[in-house]
Amino acid sequence: MNSTQVMGSEKKIILVTGGSGLVGQAIKQAKQQDPRENETFIFLSSKDGDLKDPAATQRIFERYKPTHVIHLAAMVGGLFNNMKHNLDFLRNNILINDNVLHNSYKLGVKKVVSCLSTCVFPDQTSYPIDETMIHNGPPHPSNFGYSYAKRLIDVQNHAYHQQHGCHFTAVIPTNVFGAYDNFNLEDGHVIPGLIHKAYIAKKEGKPLVVYGSGKPLRQFIYSIDLAKLFLFVLREYDEIDPIILSVDESSEVSIGEVAQMIADAFQLEHGIVLDSTKADGQFKKTASNKKLRGYLPDFQFMPLKEAIERTVQWFNLNYNIARK
Ligand code: NAP
Ligand code: GDP
Repeated sequence: MNSTQVMGSEKKIILVTGGSGLVGQAIKQAKQQDPRENETFIFLSSKDGDLKDPAATQRIFERYKPTHVIHLAAMVGGLFNNMKHNLDFLRNNILINDNVLHNSYKLGVKKVVSCLSTCVFPDQTSYPIDETMIHNGPPHPSNFGYSYAKRLIDVQNHAYHQQHGCHFTAVIPTNVFGAYDNFNLEDGHVIPGLIHKAYIAKKEGKPLVVYGSGKPLRQFIYSIDLAKLFLFVLREYDEIDPIILSVDESSEVSIGEVAQMIADAFQLEHGIVLDSTKADGQFKKTASNKKLRGYLPDFQFMPLKEAIERTVQWFNLNYNIARK
């Protein structure tokens, strides 16, 4: 056995970019619940260096010499932030991804797992959407900057594999939520945005204001479930082609139903009102998890109601430190 092996298994230094965010914090918790003796995780935040900057990225990679990378760092935001900043989402994410993937190649990283999203799929499409359909048409106009930057990760993964034999792959999560999310009222995603609004509505004895028609459909995954699936992909998934990490199609819900679950978790007494002057965004992006189910047929997702109640409890207990 050489110095890079522990009891027959290879030592892994796993660098997690974006380790301070919603998904990164969940991976921190999931790996504590399911540890491996040969794995050392390093969780980065933007304080460790700006990954838009090639020199800063190179310094980070030379310092930690990772064998594996989970690449989460990104400019991330909800519908209304994307609509205002398509250029920033495009440029910032292209820069971050190129720096992370190229330094992974230069340093001989054995495996990179990056993160796409089901919102990068074509807007005009048949349903359910699967992994083969990423590049089959333009994304929804509300978030085209983020979408094209994310789609390029898949292009780069195949190019690094073809030209240099690199094992770079990606996961495609659906809408994620949980502790450590961005609870900003205007820039965050729908669940953290509505949780923060419901917190205020409860204090002020007012109704919960839900943007749009409440009719769009979404599949939501609890961050801890996503984190467990990330660890499976890191440890066992060998394809370059990406894999959708989503709850089942039967778990798809309307925004109105999710808003009601949040109102119920806060025991709001003044109900919900819809602000139909606000955009609905993409109507639906129903994704198939058939490929995932092929690998993990028995994986149990936490029921949405329970996961929302846990997130509301976290927000109430951590109001002072929550990102908002
Ligand atoms: P998040 O909570 O906003 O976290 C973003 C992370 O990226 C933070 O750790 C942040 O560091 C870091 N970061 C941002 N810009 C950076 C930069 N220029 N240099 C270095 N680090 C930077 O996001 P998330 O929701 O966990 O998303 C993680 C991944 O999942 C992203 O790739 C996202 O596209 C993908 N995803 C998210 C969702 C969702 O619903 N949230 C759905 C599908 C896919 P600081 O904490 O220091 O700012
Ligand atoms: P998306 O799934 O990428 O479109 O992003 P979001 O998580 O921002 O979800 C957007 C959907 O939720 C749209 O149909 C919005 O109209 C609806 N929505 C309702 N209230 C809110 C809110 O307070 N914040 C956000 N971000 N979306 C809301």
